[in-house]
Amino acid sequence: MLRITNLHATVADKPILNGVSLHVPAGEVHAIMGPNGSGKSTLAYVLAGRPGYEVSEGSARFDGHDLMAMEPFERAAAGLFLGFQYPVEIPGVSYLQFLRESLNSQRRSRGEADLSGAEFIKIAREQAKLIGMDAEMLKRPVNVGFSGGEKKRAEMVQMGIMDPKFAILDETDSGLDIDALKAVGAGINRIMRKPDKGVLLITHYQRLLDYVEPDQVHVLSHGKIVRSGGPELAHELEREGYTEAAI
Ligand code: ADP
Ligand code: MG
Ligand code: MG
Repeated sequence: MLRITNLHATVADKPILNGVSLHVPAGEVHAIMGPNGSGKSTLAYVLAGRPGYEVSEGSARFDGHDLMAMEPFERAAAGLFLGFQYPVEIPGVSYLQFLRESLNSQRRSRGEADLSGAEFIKIAREQAKLIGMDAEMLKRPVNVGFSGGEKKRAEMVQMGIMDPKFAILDETDSGLDIDALKAVGAGINRIMRKPDKGVLLITHYQRLLDYVEPDQVHVLSHGKIVRSGGPELAHELEREGYTEAAI
């Protein structure tokens, strides 16, 4: 479903990814762990197509598409969802407006008609309820003044509405208390744990993996995957830390 082959990328002419290869088949959740500065967020940004992140070698294919040849909106239209470590704030645009526009632009790209306001509100309320969020929150400007937990719950509402084929989630657990962590973990399982979907879960810590059990864990170090294993690898890293010995 997602196949990354020998991916090299630079940021501001500095090499950050130095040959990442990774295959996430449909139906699987893979975790990427690694020390600070190892290139985890860079990998997410490269896959998202963020400007300034230059691919110098290698490829990334998603569901038969050459991802690197696609504009960011085309990647989203193809069913790729990206959740970022630092969610953007959009003052002046309510979360509901943002979600409705995201969903409708995706529907248009598939040749489907826009949802009516009433149809959309029903779906948004349903998703907010499932993640344990007061739907009134979604009337506020996107992420402005949201707590860490509120941002991530709102992101799960977004993911539930978009119903993507593949999600790349960067440090979704950062700054969450236990209740939010459980809710977000349950949201990821509910929305994405399906035979035809896949997830790349980027996380510094093991704790989210208690709620979303990965099929495989990969360790990124200096822009390369240096180790892969089953869920037990995450526990080992938690115990041993990212020492040279552990990776
Ligand atoms: P991680 O998410 O694993 O903590 P990042 O991908 O954020 O790591 O960063 C990897 C390396 O790339 C770090 O050394 C960081 O300083 C560098 N880097 C990331 N973004 C930029 C940027 N915009 N300009 C220069 N260096 C950057
Ligand atoms: Mg970091
Ligand atoms: Mg990061």
